[in-house]
Amino acid sequence: MEIIFLGSGGGRWTTLTQKLRTGGIRLHAEKRVHVDPGPGAIVNLALAGISALRTDAVFVTHSHPDHYNDAEILVEAMTRGMRTTRGVFAGSKSAVVGVKDIGPVLSQYHASKVAKLVTLEPGMHASVDGLRVKALPTKHSDPTNVGLSFAFEEGILAYTSDTEYFPGMEANYADARVLIINVIRPANKRIPWHLCTEDVIKILHEVKPELAILNHFGMTMIGIAEREAKHVTKKTGVKTIAARDFMRIVVGEEIEVSTQEVR
Ligand SMILES: [Zn+2]
Repeated sequence: MEIIFLGSGGGRWTTLTQKLRTGGIRLHAEKRVHVDPGPGAIVNLALAGISALRTDAVFVTHSHPDHYNDAEILVEAMTRGMRTTRGVFAGSKSAVVGVKDIGPVLSQYHASKVAKLVTLEPGMHASVDGLRVKALPTKHSDPTNVGLSFAFEEGILAYTSDTEYFPGMEANYADARVLIINVIRPANKRIPWHLCTEDVIKILHEVKPELAILNHFGMTMIGIAEREAKHVTKKTGVKTIAARDFMRIVVGEEIEVSTQEVR
């Protein structure tokens, strides 16, 4: 299976300035899944030479625009221009049905053409034509936010989504072969609802994926994310890399990392 980063940026200011892209993550195996299609997802798909029409599921972990902005256009692609009913749209309660004054992220018109709508709560399982996905708990300003754990043939891929550190969270990633960690700030420069590098080190002292990928960088991570990743590797012994826009990771027996040049 293959992981493609259509953006490594996150948070308000990186998103508004597009200093890093914010198109989310593609997971390509037998099925093709788009996770957290933030602003630019559809543009970045085109730049990467990936057909948006070949999308089988869209996952939105919570109702913040850097995670959901392009969800409707992805649903249009998944349903072949709204001409067929197909695909899966899964996400937090805020994303799928709406909570108080936030969400849902799809209009009724768009939701009407999705074959399967799934509201995820921590601990719940969903499936995309046989691909099993488990929702994981988080601690975020959207309280219905979920992390995701995909059970691919090649192993488990877990994604923290946005969360701050909470005791015991490591257990959710214990079986992950690849772990994508949203870390908005470097060192110990913690802000509420998010992880910083020091938190990542704490997590990776407890769990040992084959590869950890730092992702979703705020402004203060720009230019130093790779250095932060090296520091994490040194402190924990877990091979850790920083996501880059258009990074591609092929997970087979080995894990191969490359970055696609785009015009
Ligand atoms: Zn968020």
